[in-house]
Amino acid sequence: MKNRKYGKPLGDIVAIKSDFFEHNDDMLKLSGHQADALLIQKKRENCKICHTPIEGEPLYMSQRMEYYLCPVCGHVNSAHEDTDDFANRVYLEDSYEDNYSEEDREKYEKRLETIYIPKGEFLIGALKEDGLDKKDIKLLDDGAGSGYFVGAMRKLGVQAEGIEISSSQVKFANKMNGEEVLRQVDSPDIAGILKTTDANVLSFIGVFEHIINLDEILTAIRENKKIQYVFLSVPMFSMSCVFEASHQKCYNRHAGGTHTHLFSDTSLEFMADKMGFEELKSWKFGSDMMDLYRMLCVSLEQNDNKKLKDYFAPKFLKMIDELQLTVDKNEFASEIHLILKRR
Ligand SMILES: [Zn+2]
Repeated sequence: MKNRKYGKPLGDIVAIKSDFFEHNDDMLKLSGHQADALLIQKKRENCKICHTPIEGEPLYMSQRMEYYLCPVCGHVNSAHEDTDDFANRVYLEDSYEDNYSEEDREKYEKRLETIYIPKGEFLIGALKEDGLDKKDIKLLDDGAGSGYFVGAMRKLGVQAEGIEISSSQVKFANKMNGEEVLRQVDSPDIAGILKTTDANVLSFIGVFEHIINLDEILTAIRENKKIQYVFLSVPMFSMSCVFEASHQKCYNRHAGGTHTHLFSDTSLEFMADKMGFEELKSWKFGSDMMDLYRMLCVSLEQNDNKKLKDYFAPKFLKMIDELQLTVDKNEFASEIHLILKRR
């Protein structure tokens, strides 16, 4: 791949993601409820990205859900469609306390520094190489969540703001950042906002995979010529899918839950083309080996092999970055960060 960067050392992300290890059964139960919500939706008739009819046998089955590989664009679609009803059932409003401790703030800062500053630096660097200086970036982050990416971009000196559906997340983000960095919007208004925004850079970090009216959003971006760049990260059809399918007693972080379809390099190209954009630069690094590590540890514990787990864990962690880099370079990693440029 031209202009693609590979790999990212895990650092202390292992500590940040410890919930998945300690609460496997609870997380698995939650994803089971989310699967229940998807299984009652209508069958998906067409590929989410290229609209080719879904026919024939599924490629695989995991946690009761069948997954079909699109023969045209390589996208992986679940057998059932993500609908408004599905969204209403699975996207529950998180409750955030009104009082935040100093510890909450430290956790927020750490997450922002460890996970989001590198994403911001990657974007700023690529745009600079392409001739857009930091001071000329006007960024709108869609689906801004708790405001980590907007916070990181502002820290890096970029004019950035975000929109987010969840009012409690907006409140939390603004409190943590000490100023109004996000505003609450309703889902039906988002296409209109994108159609009229004067931002020249849009970002969608872990958002596209959740958008039900994806075609409408892509059209809005295509029609607003002010938007010159789109930065996105999405889950990919990858090694993690295989690990999940083969470890059915382990929590499925990747395929399942609120992820009802997964991207491929070709389906991303297809989608960019629909928007009138093309790939400028990308960064591929996955969590596949982290998933494998977690599933092996959890399975060993489940099989009363705690001693072996304790022996094995540090040895695996020593190799984990190297193993993941191999997966990344072989284009079978669980995530991609992609900068698209208007053609
Ligand atoms: Zn397709």
